[in-house]
Amino acid sequence: MKNLLTLIFLLQNMILVHAQETTALLCGQLITAKDDVVHSNAVILVEGEKIIAVGNQDLIQPGYPIIDLSDHTVMPGLIDAHVHPLIYGTEYQTNHLKGSSAFNALRGLKTVQEWLHAGWTTLRIAGDADTQYAHFEIRKAIDSGMFPGPRIVGAGHYLSITGGGGDINYLAPGQVVIPDGLIVDGKDEIRRAIRQEIKYGSDWIKLLVTGAFMSTGDNPKNVHFSDEEISTAVDEAHRRGVPVMMHAHAKEGIKKAILHGARSIEHGTFLDAETIDLLLEHDTYLVPTLTVGTYFREVDSGNVAMTKAERSQKAFRENRLKMLGHAYKKGVKIGIGSDNVGFPASFMANEFAEFVKFGMTPMHALQAGTKTNAALLMKEKELGTIEVGKFADIIATKNNPLDDITELQRVQFVMKGGVVIKHLDRK
Ligand SMILES: [Zn+2]
Repeated sequence: MKNLLTLIFLLQNMILVHAQETTALLCGQLITAKDDVVHSNAVILVEGEKIIAVGNQDLIQPGYPIIDLSDHTVMPGLIDAHVHPLIYGTEYQTNHLKGSSAFNALRGLKTVQEWLHAGWTTLRIAGDADTQYAHFEIRKAIDSGMFPGPRIVGAGHYLSITGGGGDINYLAPGQVVIPDGLIVDGKDEIRRAIRQEIKYGSDWIKLLVTGAFMSTGDNPKNVHFSDEEISTAVDEAHRRGVPVMMHAHAKEGIKKAILHGARSIEHGTFLDAETIDLLLEHDTYLVPTLTVGTYFREVDSGNVAMTKAERSQKAFRENRLKMLGHAYKKGVKIGIGSDNVGFPASFMANEFAEFVKFGMTPMHALQAGTKTNAALLMKEKELGTIEVGKFADIIATKNNPLDDITELQRVQFVMKGGVVIKHLDRK
């Protein structure tokens, strides 16, 4: 009897597997992002969540449902390696106190769905502003199939020193409020905070090694954590198999972050020849996040909370672009990260245009937001290119973004894991 039940179970599963439909995507132009080639009139076959074939029209069997993108350019879903879906508004350091964690989760879910609609199928959260880890509850809801949404990895919070970029530095002493970051001083507090982060879902640890531009009362040029504290953080995270991303603006901070084993440097504003060489030597990724500055400089320049950042952007931008151009030419692995703290979804892809401004080819810029970021996330076997065996995270634009990189701000079609999220005929 038991054997019979097992046999029935196996047969049912075989039928289920067999019944999975194969869909064919007709691609006018196809950029797989695996290499620098653009294919014309290509076909992608998708079965379930995965890509099962990439080739030409010969792949299509009678009866396959067809998604006709023959008027479009098709490419992998975009990966943003630096976002904060729960941060918004001018008083961003205290906004998390104005709504409950439930409200933050609902608002955040809407935000990440908008980003998915704009073509971002995977996000890495660089610490976020909810003490109850609403962002990982959003991930739980998405991954369990309750709501459509992007793939999410990242850090629950940014770890900051007292008085650092994750602290609230404009309140009188004695005002006890919970800051957006996790405030940690000394080795023991760092270990406890990292254990808590991992317990509640962080698969990255985020450390604010230097001061920040967008916070009040700290200096982005200062190094905040001691060597002992940084090495403790890396030791604790790595022992648990969790990589560390380190926010660092100033040269000393960038150096310390690389030497202590950061997987990625976030921002790296005052990059120079020495730090470029160090990035290469240690095979460290750089996520420069140029777009956040551009947004508050050019689009929303009246934003009071961002004044410190705007000034910095004006003062350092030219030199920064020059150094990034050098870093690119020398072969530093540079990833796309918008640092979205509440600006419109369509503006996130401006980061690709910023990369082209410092001299990257449009093809390499697109790869920075797909293939390179998948490798940064250690998910290169599943994501980042259009290849057999990978998740069918696929987007399309009307015109070829290699001709006009801003086309990535107008993504027309989005598929995540084989499910069509945004149809061509719907807005
Ligand atoms: Zn950030």
